Amino acid sequence: MTDGSPLAVAMEEEESTAMAMEVEESPSPSPSIAPRDPPKIQRLEESVVNRIAAGEVIQRPVSAVKELVENSLDADSTSISVTVKDGGLKLIQVSDDGHGIRREDLPILCERHTTSKLSKYEDLFSLSSMGFRGEALASMTYVAHVTVTTITKGQIHGHRVSYRDGVMEHEPKACAAVKGTQIMVENLFYNMIARRKTLQNSADDYGKIVDLLSRMAIHHNNVSFSCRKHGAVKADVHSVVSSSRLDSIRSVYGVSVAKSLIKVEVSSGESSGCAFDMEGFVSNSNYVAKKTILVLFINDRLVECSALKRAVEIVYAATLPKASKPFVYMSINLPREHVDINIHPTKKEVSLLNQEIMIEMIQSEVELKLRNTNDTRTFQEQKVEYIQSTLKSSKSDTPVSPLPSGQKTPKVPVRKMVRTDSSDPAGRLHAFLQPKPHNLPDTVSSLSAVRSSIRQRRNPKETADLSSVQELLSGVDSCCHPGLLETVRNCTYVGMADDVFALVQYQTHLYLANVVNLSKELMYQQTLRRFAHFNAIQLSDPAPLSELILLALQEEDLDPENNEKDHLKERIAEMNTELLMEKVEMLEEYFSVFIDSDGNLSRLPVILDQYTPDMDRVPEFLLCLGNDVEWEDEKACFQGVSAAIGNFYAMHPPLLPNPSGDGVRFYTKTSEKSSQENPALGSNVEMESVLDQDLLSDAETAWAQREWSIQHVLFPSMRLFLKPPASMASNGTFVKVASLEKLYKIFERC
Ligand code: ADP
Ligand code: MG
Repeated sequence: MTDGSPLAVAMEEEESTAMAMEVEESPSPSPSIAPRDPPKIQRLEESVVNRIAAGEVIQRPVSAVKELVENSLDADSTSISVTVKDGGLKLIQVSDDGHGIRREDLPILCERHTTSKLSKYEDLFSLSSMGFRGEALASMTYVAHVTVTTITKGQIHGHRVSYRDGVMEHEPKACAAVKGTQIMVENLFYNMIARRKTLQNSADDYGKIVDLLSRMAIHHNNVSFSCRKHGAVKADVHSVVSSSRLDSIRSVYGVSVAKSLIKVEVSSGESSGCAFDMEGFVSNSNYVAKKTILVLFINDRLVECSALKRAVEIVYAATLPKASKPFVYMSINLPREHVDINIHPTKKEVSLLNQEIMIEMIQSEVELKLRNTNDTRTFQEQKVEYIQSTLKSSKSDTPVSPLPSGQKTPKVPVRKMVRTDSSDPAGRLHAFLQPKPHNLPDTVSSLSAVRSSIRQRRNPKETADLSSVQELLSGVDSCCHPGLLETVRNCTYVGMADDVFALVQYQTHLYLANVVNLSKELMYQQTLRRFAHFNAIQLSDPAPLSELILLALQEEDLDPENNEKDHLKERIAEMNTELLMEKVEMLEEYFSVFIDSDGNLSRLPVILDQYTPDMDRVPEFLLCLGNDVEWEDEKACFQGVSAAIGNFYAMHPPLLPNPSGDGVRFYTKTSEKSSQENPALGSNVEMESVLDQDLLSDAETAWAQREWSIQHVLFPSMRLFLKPPASMASNGTFVKVASLEKLYKIFERC
């Protein structure tokens, strides 16, 4: 969201390969180093210039279809049908019932820069048509054979004419015609061998064309669209004119999509400094798909915006993780002067004022709507799954009454179910920010204590209800520090200052922010928010619990040479395993931590999309689950497990030292220098340092990945979800290092 990149239509990846192939065809300059005379500058022939330009405007078949359909829309058509042969390479035919083209305009129709939509530069700012550059048809004639058949109102017959390289191949011929225009583009890229080959080798464009028309059809619901393969009876897109957007989505994307949509709307006032209206539909939890579909129109122009797409996905990942690849249709309207449509030859990119503010407002609206539906859903599950808890307190024998979720009546508004009780300290996290020291017993007597406590922990099947989680979340809310929240929401990531601190800017201040603390807290909070609704990370090699725990115990041991304690460690590992094996159902159901019946850890939860924790920390995590979690009390247990997950997923520095600083010494091995001259001088062997390349490159990857995640996953997600606890204001998580005002004062004196 912070990259400020202009909105851009996708397809870029494939396009760039096509372009790259094109370049490769030209002879590469010889790598001679001898000085040579400056090459002569020549004027390119116009046909060469035009063909180069055409290659940019018409990048692939789907771009030609887009231009043609937009022309039809500009011509006030109410019905547009598209026929495609061989993915568009053989034939693209677009027929409409629009106003047609005048006979006298036909001679210049396909010349470059001939248009009926713009006459002076200023018109650009009040333009309501899709086209304006007068380049599309011209471009097509430079890379394909184009035939136009058209008739205007009041004419008794139409005209047909073919074009090549911008000009008519013959005088227009009179012909019978139905209302409107039909444009046929044949043998696309016949004269661009490399492009044609690349396109022939990749999957054909028909899918992209169908996708394009589906998107167009739901937005322009006053126009009927159809798209079919040449010779096919059945159309792959078939929409009818309808007055309701939802009806058109239903007819194009199907009933199941349409019935899982929620309406979203944002209308920002002028005062926000960014005037825009957005209306659209987003999918609810019933819509599960492999890929996000974002159908986005800005001022009726179909564009794509990866920043918005990512932003919406993040909201889904947090609120509806199981349905985290949504279907989204949005139409955004903003003052024409806020959009610069003229920054790209294909007009696929538009540049917007205040893109970030807009995205944030849209995110909040989507989040709000999803939360409302999600709460309802959670509530229903809660009702069904409620079973009287039989938890016992370990401290006293009096039964602890379970959290009274059963007393809730469905009539209570969902929002009110989440109470914020500032007197209830539950959920305060400072205790978890510094991991508790592991109370590892180191004598046999404490071993028996552990054993008895583990026995006590053998509870009957645990049941839990979500009200304890709601309470923990309320705790998070009530501890939130408003000033820090403001800072986190609006700060800009500058870079890593060292292994733990990131430099961030907020307004005129620079702060050092402890990413370990921040990520730990974020992961903790997200674990609570996604409680029982996690996506899962499948481990490729399930790992045995007991060995992992043993490993953690050995790593912790400050005196690893001392073998006496080995036996003890094994026993502790065994008991911890035993304990966790009793909790497998709960861990799986609520936290998506899956341990199979053989005691192998095989699945972990997704806490933030696009982020997997450092697997080197699995042993420590399991030990922490075994040792630090208060299993007897429901709320404390959920809090403990969430904190352990938070600590595990936090963005700690990788275990391998940072190779970019002094840490590089770690990767240097000293070895004997092979010296043939003095084989006899054993005592005087020269030593040389060699770098352990494999380890070094592992370390470099780990550190680079972490930095990427900090910038692209942690900070964007924090902006959305983190409620920073007040403790962070004083525990060194945020340290102000400079303020611009003060710096200016210093510089003024210089
Ligand atoms: P632009 O759309 O930028 O004006 P094009 O090369 O796409 O440039 O089209 C040139 C002109 O041809 C348009 O301005 C329009 O007047 C006319 N035209 C193209 N397609 C159609 C159509 N389907 N119906 C009516 N007029 C059309
Ligand atoms: Mg056009």
